Amino acid sequence: MSSIFTKILNGDIPSHKIYEDDLVFAFLDINPVQPGHTLVIPKNECDHWLDVPDSSYLAVMRAAKVIGKAIHKATGCKRVCTRIEGYEVPHFHYHLIPTNSTSDFEAKPQSMNGEQLAKMAERIKNKI
Ligand code: 5GP
Repeated sequence: MSSIFTKILNGDIPSHKIYEDDLVFAFLDINPVQPGHTLVIPKNECDHWLDVPDSSYLAVMRAAKVIGKAIHKATGCKRVCTRIEGYEVPHFHYHLIPTNSTSDFEAKPQSMNGEQLAKMAERIKNKI
């Protein structure tokens, strides 16, 4: 069965897309730890990052730098921090989280409405 993230990249579930290339897709987290929280995923579904083929893993990391720089500029944050966890969705995803402090990184996820997410996605895409 397809992961929820495969459904998102296939357009079966809506998302606020940030970036796409042959191997990688990126979109805003629906419950961001901070506004601008983005998930970067390989198009080929694979659960644990240790099992992701190098070609997909490196493509995610390469895209994450491009997207991370755009998040940095768009939000004006001090640092874009990253996280790999995967306990909720079994499709490797690299979290990019804009922060101004450690507590920003450790904050609880928040809800943002569709309009707020759409505006943030535009701000980040405009900096890519
Ligand atoms: P994990 O704990 O697996 O590393 O994190 C999964 C992340 O995916 C969470 O931050 C959660 O908010 C996000 N997420 C789960 N379902 C959806 C969804 O349907 N759309 C979006 N955009 N994000 C999702």
